[in-house]
Amino acid sequence: MESALTARDRVGVQDFVLLENYNSEAAFIENLRRRFGENLIYTYIGSVLVSVNPYKELEIYSKQQMDRYRGVSFYEISPHIYAVSDNTYRAMRTERKDQCILISGESGAGKTEASKKILLYYAVTCPTNDHMAALGDRLLQSNPVLEAFGNAKTLRNDNSSRFGKYMDVQFDFRGAPVGGHILNYLLEKSRVVHQNHGERNFHIFYQLLDGGDDNLLNTLDLERNPQNYHYLVKGNCPRLSSVSDKNNWKVVMKALPIIGFTEEEVQKLLNIIGSVLHLGNTQFGEGEEGETYITTETQINNIAKLLGVDGSALREALTHKKLTAKGEEMISPLNFEQAVSARDALAKAVYGRTFTWLVEKINQSLALKVHIMLWGSCSGSSVIGLLDIYGFEVLQHNSFEQFCINYCNEKLQQLFIELTLRSEQEEYETEGIAWETVQYFDNKIICDLIEEKHKGIISILDEECLRPGETCDVSFLEKLEDTLGGHPHFVTHKLANGKTRRVMSREEFRLLHYAGEVNYNVNGFLDKNNDSLNRNLKEVMCQSENQILRHCFRREEVIDQKRSEMAATQFKNSLMKLMEILMSKEPSYVRCIKPNDAKQPGRFDEVLVRHQVKYLGLMENLRVRRAGFAYRRRFEAFLQRYKPLCPETWPNWHGRLADGVLTLVNHLGYKAEEYKLGRSKIFIRFPKTLFTTEDALEAK
Ligand code: ADP
Ligand code: MG
Repeated sequence: MESALTARDRVGVQDFVLLENYNSEAAFIENLRRRFGENLIYTYIGSVLVSVNPYKELEIYSKQQMDRYRGVSFYEISPHIYAVSDNTYRAMRTERKDQCILISGESGAGKTEASKKILLYYAVTCPTNDHMAALGDRLLQSNPVLEAFGNAKTLRNDNSSRFGKYMDVQFDFRGAPVGGHILNYLLEKSRVVHQNHGERNFHIFYQLLDGGDDNLLNTLDLERNPQNYHYLVKGNCPRLSSVSDKNNWKVVMKALPIIGFTEEEVQKLLNIIGSVLHLGNTQFGEGEEGETYITTETQINNIAKLLGVDGSALREALTHKKLTAKGEEMISPLNFEQAVSARDALAKAVYGRTFTWLVEKINQSLALKVHIMLWGSCSGSSVIGLLDIYGFEVLQHNSFEQFCINYCNEKLQQLFIELTLRSEQEEYETEGIAWETVQYFDNKIICDLIEEKHKGIISILDEECLRPGETCDVSFLEKLEDTLGGHPHFVTHKLANGKTRRVMSREEFRLLHYAGEVNYNVNGFLDKNNDSLNRNLKEVMCQSENQILRHCFRREEVIDQKRSEMAATQFKNSLMKLMEILMSKEPSYVRCIKPNDAKQPGRFDEVLVRHQVKYLGLMENLRVRRAGFAYRRRFEAFLQRYKPLCPETWPNWHGRLADGVLTLVNHLGYKAEEYKLGRSKIFIRFPKTLFTTEDALEAK
């Protein structure tokens, strides 16, 4: 049998820690490229799985493959997402400790596919709980629904998740999945009203128009052609070659009742989707005295009918603003631009809040049911969390969204370093081996720059949003310059004084992230952070007869005039909570890489890959992992594999395992500095030592 290690010349090494020259990025990429060429898309860095999107169906996800990986130790067979799934599951079972799997990578790298494969692995291989037989089903069915409402075609990915997702799967004492819970992060609401060229709005709109039957479209007063809707034509891309909206519509409609949506709820949900399209077609005119009025009465009537709101109140709220000054209510008319942006703000709020409702609804359906708790079987329950979240994003034009996303990645990197070092240290401790310090870049300074109270970018942004008087994106930038001028990770056009390599515009600030520099354009920062909706529009919505909307727009919000949290602060707080959740668990990592921008199989674009290796911090990762020992293996496994090489250990060693290993390595001539014996594992410092032993085994 060809060992995965000995085939290294052809297919590279299956674990980067075995690379001779682990500091060389070129060697790293060459190894990835070689393996990719052989359809070996998975490679380890120790216990981290690196995955390269094959952009084609590989025959490696069958039930037989799942069985191959069950109960098998990491290094024994080729790297696989199932190995990570299985190891995580077994660690949870044997160590009784909650686990999490963090999946990262840029858009289109394969994160969501990876998380689906992990879920599928559990749904297929775990025992089932009689009371919850359908849970695996509901877990799997929640995916197409979330994707319909939260995913869209972008230039980078035809099925791009436009929200971050953290999902907990709960297991009972027998290891059967019994519950689930989803946390969602930062849905890209702006997509509802605008799409860049070549991109689409969220899938559900096109699915509804393509798949809904005539009857349904009639009730919603919708026409089949997406080109008739302003909110769907911005990207000039109504159809997708790779996706059938019609088929996916069927999948979603089948999934909704399985997850527990009633027929009525589905109808109300579709009413909302329809009314967003009508809202997009609502147009305004400008009167002689600059007053704004609505020119499309049909749309207002349709929305009023579909949402069960008062048409004239809606008309009024779309063209006027209600203010309270000195305890008195005042109505002031909106100008044309203000009316357009009030309309778009309403569409975004309605869609965004409906999405949140949808997630809550799915959570109810996945919730651990009380009778099982009473039944007493959950005392030993444990959790595996799956994080599928946007990776570092550097676009031509980076805005508020990229700022939040990249901030999130700074936090994850911080967590990663902390947890990797912690687990390394713990392993050394349990094995009784002296700890060797590892040098690494601590990105806390960048996290502080963004999130610190009063002085951080988010605080300054909030302050600028709240400050009375004339504030704008540029005054925000000036404030940043005043406060953060001397910071080593913050640069602007003015501060740089022509000293930067890349030209910066006067509207940008640059952050030197752990992964590299990114320029952010401040245009729109204040608006996006404010994310506000005129009060009278809120009033109209909370009087809706549509229960979903009434759930989304609460009376208290209108009565209580206190400002709710701003978008960036809200995001920051939800990230803090996420970090806490992740800190309490034992992490595993999947790092996804996109091999080319053309979404094509067989193409490995080295420049693109190098970029991702950098932004994922993989070289740093490898360095930390290699700082001490390249390789470690349990005594049993080591003896089992290499015992034929030494007469005293062949065919069987009868004494203590540690003595057996010692006898073996003495016979093989390992030098003292090449290895260390812990309590249950042998640690080997250089890959060469291991390769020599492997070669000896092969020659036998
Ligand atoms: P991300 O969530 O990282 O943005 P996705 O998981 O949506 O990316 O993957 C983008 C596309 O790449 C998928 O729609 C699929 O066509 C392809 N893909 C990703 N991973 C795999 C895989 N393991 N096998 C085959 N195709 C894949
Ligand atoms: Mg995704």
